[in-house]
Amino acid sequence: TIAHFPAVKTLEDFDFKAQPSVDAKLVRELATGRFIAQAQNVLLFGPPGVGKTHLAIGLGRAAVESGHSVLFTSATALLAALAKAESEGVLKDKLNYFAKPKLLVVDELGYLPFEKRSAHLFFQLVARRYEKGSLLLTTNQMVGQWGGVFGDDVLAAAILDRLLHHSHTLLIHGDSYRLRQKRKAGLLG
Ligand code: ADP
Ligand code: MG
Repeated sequence: TIAHFPAVKTLEDFDFKAQPSVDAKLVRELATGRFIAQAQNVLLFGPPGVGKTHLAIGLGRAAVESGHSVLFTSATALLAALAKAESEGVLKDKLNYFAKPKLLVVDELGYLPFEKRSAHLFFQLVARRYEKGSLLLTTNQMVGQWGGVFGDDVLAAAILDRLLHHSHTLLIHGDSYRLRQKRKAGLLG
């Protein structure tokens, strides 16, 4: 599977000292790819700019290097693809496509709320992959807000239940790395 990483980012380039809320030891363990062999999930929670996408790409690259099939997509692109496939009567094929890679990286869940139908499609994908393949998900929304993201508390709970069952979670906090660079340059006062 081709990974489609949106940028060149590596774990070697990640400054763990600048982001003490990230457990470097856990990231190193995840980079071995063992979680993929066990079909476990990885959930990265945190506000914008704290390095979620960087880590997601870095871990995705590490997974490719350890011989796993990886597909990287944004939540928005994933849902658009599933909705389009459904309207064209080929949802099953698309679900198979996204269910196939050993690691599916879904970036930026929660920036845009899902339509009700999309939430159902996402549930179907998560249920399909459950205990079979790993999902690595990044989100700016804490689990308490997922009902709002999916527009349905019951569905959000069902999705979370499956995602969290066999999972590693990283809660990243602190300032945006982007704004920190700007602040250093004196642009933000
Ligand atoms: P998020 O996905 O959480 O919004 P990103 O991963 O896109 O944040 O990070 C924003 C930018 O800052 C990217 O260019 C990323 O490479 C960089 N960055 C963030 N955290 C770090 C870090 N700890 N070390 C090095 N670069 C970082
Ligand atoms: Mg991001």
